[in-house]
Amino acid sequence: MALNKYEIKKLDLPLEVINVIQTLKDKACPPSVGGRRGFEAYLIGGCVRDLLLNRKPKDWDVTTDATPEEIIALFKDTFYENNYGTVGIVNEESKDETLKVIEVTPYRLEAEYSDNRRPDHVTFSKNLEDDLQRRDFTINAIALDIKEIAKNKSVKGGPKFSGEYLDYYNGHEDLQAKIIRTVGEAHDRFTEDGLRILRAVRIATEIGFCIDKKTEKAIVTNASLLTNIAKERIRDEFTKIIMSDNPMAGLVLCRKMGLIPYIIPKIESTVSVEQSRSHIYDVFEHSLRSLQHTADKKYPLEIRLAALFHDIGKPPTRRRDKEQDIWTFYGHEVTGAKIVAEILADLRFPKKIIEKVTKLVRWHMFFADTEQISLSAVRRIISSVGRDNIWDLMNLRGADRMGMGRPKESPYRLRKYHSMVEEAMTDPVSVGMLEIDGAQVMKFTGEAPGPKIGYMLHALLEEMLENPALNTEEYLKKRAKELAKLDANDLKKLGDSGKETKEKEEEKKIEEIRKKHWVQ
Ligand code: ATP
Ligand code: MG
Repeated sequence: MALNKYEIKKLDLPLEVINVIQTLKDKACPPSVGGRRGFEAYLIGGCVRDLLLNRKPKDWDVTTDATPEEIIALFKDTFYENNYGTVGIVNEESKDETLKVIEVTPYRLEAEYSDNRRPDHVTFSKNLEDDLQRRDFTINAIALDIKEIAKNKSVKGGPKFSGEYLDYYNGHEDLQAKIIRTVGEAHDRFTEDGLRILRAVRIATEIGFCIDKKTEKAIVTNASLLTNIAKERIRDEFTKIIMSDNPMAGLVLCRKMGLIPYIIPKIESTVSVEQSRSHIYDVFEHSLRSLQHTADKKYPLEIRLAALFHDIGKPPTRRRDKEQDIWTFYGHEVTGAKIVAEILADLRFPKKIIEKVTKLVRWHMFFADTEQISLSAVRRIISSVGRDNIWDLMNLRGADRMGMGRPKESPYRLRKYHSMVEEAMTDPVSVGMLEIDGAQVMKFTGEAPGPKIGYMLHALLEEMLENPALNTEEYLKKRAKELAKLDANDLKKLGDSGKETKEKEEEKKIEEIRKKHWVQ
């Protein structure tokens, strides 16, 4: 391969990175590991790509001809990362998250891949060229050689560095043309490691590039290789697509190339699911537009996931209302909450994220009847979704509306919601906010510790949700004494009336509606 070299002057680089490269280049290893010195060390991969695109690198990778043992011997604080020889150099005191660990990997040779995801064995090399050849895309295979470090250390406004880009695969050309292209034969590169399929889409989405025709063709042909890839790794790439500035474009690209069945198969069922009335888009497009709005607003992952999946319960709940000549989706938020919990668990998302997204999806329909909304209804929703999630739920609603292609909520209505939520937030919406606690309940009623105390507290909360003015020690004390006379089962029912019982009633209602439409 022809080597292209490009000089670069006045490069801004973090000192932590410079320190790693300088140490590798200058410091001698102790005799116990051979005493070698003067290693080759280059910045490589996404950080070089991002420097060339004027983006802030997400992490810093260094490639070197030193062995893992030699790397470890040169640095104070290191850890051995994985089976590929990568050594993490730790900069505990760095304030920048991206610099806390800098990864140094020995040059590697491309090896056999018999399982479409991992090389059968790892072989180190003494040649940079070998290492670049095994990398996935041309824009990720440019090495940056940092030069003249020491001389420039005291320049005004922080040190500047000069360097040289080493580019064997026309990565520069592809960067300029905004193209993702594999290093070498696309088909072979994807069969070696199926994850590269998702990396291509993810990187294209993050930096707004196109995928080269041949590379795209190989992705389409090899899409099913994603079944060999660990769910956690699929989740990580999927998350990066969702957290990018253009998740809608990313998912459209995934769909175009037939990747959805291997990432989030259930989303396929929303395609072409036509809706009625104010909905001008099918469920798929509406979901993507809602998601895009959450990205435009830079919302966190949970709200973005909730926006993408908020209507995932629509395909299985869609019924035709013949009288009104419209499509209905009764109970889609209940069904959707179950489906989204399954999808996220399948992708191995952490429990906390699954719980939050599920809650948001479950309650996203709450604000539907805006005109008749009462304060006690607002209190109930806060109690159900949780005080910590209520503003996220409001933001999800905003995204839902924007995804319908409708203008924003009228400022008047929005102000009304906000003030109602704020007002309700000062009222008791959880057991912890009652002016009485379990110990006091036991003291006033003489009850022994046990589940009955919890049921009583929940029954009291139920009353407070209707009428928060009753939240005084005096009233609660009196009421606790009355409640103590009931048996545990009746108490449990009282306490559950806002939750399980209501949910069951709701589901029963939905069933009835469904039956009605089936028989029609
Ligand atoms: P990010 O901006 O997310 O860090 P990245 O391209 O740097 O993107 P990393 O996972 O940090 O991704 O990988 C660093 C480099 O290692 C890549 O740029 C690429 O050169 C190489 N690489 C990573 N994963 C693979 C892979 N599956 N196959 C081949 N090369 C890979
Ligand atoms: Mg990286």
